[in-house]
Amino acid sequence: MTINMNVHAEIVRGLPKQILIDGKFVPALSGRTFQTFNPATGEAIADIAEGDAADIDLAVAAARRAFTGPWSRFTPFQRQQCLLRFADLIETHFDELCVIDVLDMGVPISMMRARKQRALGLARFYAGLVTTIHGGTLPNSFPGEVFSYTLKEPVGVVGAITPWNAPLTSTIWKMAPVIATGCTMVLKPAEDAPLTALRLGELLLEAGVPEGVVNIVPGFGHTAGAALASHMDVDKVAFTGSDFTGRKIIEASKGNIKRVTLELGGKSPDVIFADCDMDAAVAGAGMGVFANSGQICCAGTRLLVQRPIYDEFIERVSAYAKSLKVGNGLDPETQIGPVVNAKQLDRVAGYIDVGLGEGAQATVGGKRLTEGALKNGYFFEPTVLSCVTNDMRVAQEEIFGPVAAAIPFDTLEEAAAIANDTVFGLGGGVWTTNVSTAHRMAKAIRAGTVWVNTYGGLDPVVPFGGYKTSGYGRESGVEHIEAYLETKSVIMKLG
Ligand code: ADP
Repeated sequence: MTINMNVHAEIVRGLPKQILIDGKFVPALSGRTFQTFNPATGEAIADIAEGDAADIDLAVAAARRAFTGPWSRFTPFQRQQCLLRFADLIETHFDELCVIDVLDMGVPISMMRARKQRALGLARFYAGLVTTIHGGTLPNSFPGEVFSYTLKEPVGVVGAITPWNAPLTSTIWKMAPVIATGCTMVLKPAEDAPLTALRLGELLLEAGVPEGVVNIVPGFGHTAGAALASHMDVDKVAFTGSDFTGRKIIEASKGNIKRVTLELGGKSPDVIFADCDMDAAVAGAGMGVFANSGQICCAGTRLLVQRPIYDEFIERVSAYAKSLKVGNGLDPETQIGPVVNAKQLDRVAGYIDVGLGEGAQATVGGKRLTEGALKNGYFFEPTVLSCVTNDMRVAQEEIFGPVAAAIPFDTLEEAAAIANDTVFGLGGGVWTTNVSTAHRMAKAIRAGTVWVNTYGGLDPVVPFGGYKTSGYGRESGVEHIEAYLETKSVIMKLG
């Protein structure tokens, strides 16, 4: 199909590209900008203000002022109204928001459209939670003499740092609990895909969120991100990204003992038993690893396949990988887009070399795609590596590309041992028609989420987060907002 780039260029032209501080879009104090690129074509799409430590200082000061300003007197119902209006605005502008994500980081438009329910659901779920936030009265050891109760108070100024792999949903995921709890925030979006966050900031203002409550400073991780993570007037950091950077965030948070939540990487096992529904497992586990070109933290990148079906499954999942339509995400028929940038492309190709050197075999894929319209983009073939053992680097390290590592096993116990032989613990999958096997395996996998006979779906109501090196804290679910609240105990002597 032909893609009308003029329409898309028009959308990008109208987007905010500066720093959002105190309700206004302003240039960086340094005057510097950086470019973002369309990974499907390699073309520059926008010049974005490049915030650094000085801009972070201004943004944090604005967030602090807003925290004690009129926002602190918003009733729960008013905050709820803001979130509901925000959700409605996302719905109104959904097509535009989808296109921005596609242009900025390459995700197929079909996948963005499928995320509509989730994007709107996130904003509306947190809207629903606003009026449920409350403390309690507590029976104590001195009835009649002492009265004790708790208050739930917003934690303060939140520094949110987001990745590039799902800008729309991951940004709403960071904004909504801030609004729900009455906190304020400074958001540092990923340098590879900052446009969606800036547009969402504009929509929040339109939704009635006061100036200064949400400030957005695009810029680089080692400058703007590091300044935010170490800022002495930021009370909490909510970070999603690599475990490498997650460790830096923990270090940087020490100065004022920030509250920290971390959603980091994974090397999730997807366990396929011989009694599974093979058709469902091939497509489900296949998309579980290849969706978004494998750039999903909970992607099921290790396919653990029971030995009686190992050869057949590898053959079929390889054929499935081969059948996927790789292309520009703006084409509605595209199933797999490019990876985000040249560095990521090199990283994926490098891991293929590592895997082949370790003795793995590529049953499908393994190469960059450069034919025709793909020639200037960062496209990589969906790849299945077989003959993998769990000690290989391709089975232990997060590749963040469309690469599955297939490992055989005999028994459930062996599958569990392999599944858990990793530093990560974000996700896992089980494919079986046996209910007992499903429950046993779900229990055995040490990870924050286990999918059974499906893979990778997320829901605002269901907690999501990691065991082990995959991070701490949970996003979504009613417990998420606890991470944005302090509990104050009041103990009162009665006269
Ligand atoms: P990736 O390598 O895939 O970009 P990162 O974890 O480095 O993953 O990036 C996730 C987010 O963390 C991005 O917004 C990035 O700018 C930010 N970031 C990177 N380095 C730092 C740092 N030292 N301190 C704070 N944020 C950082």
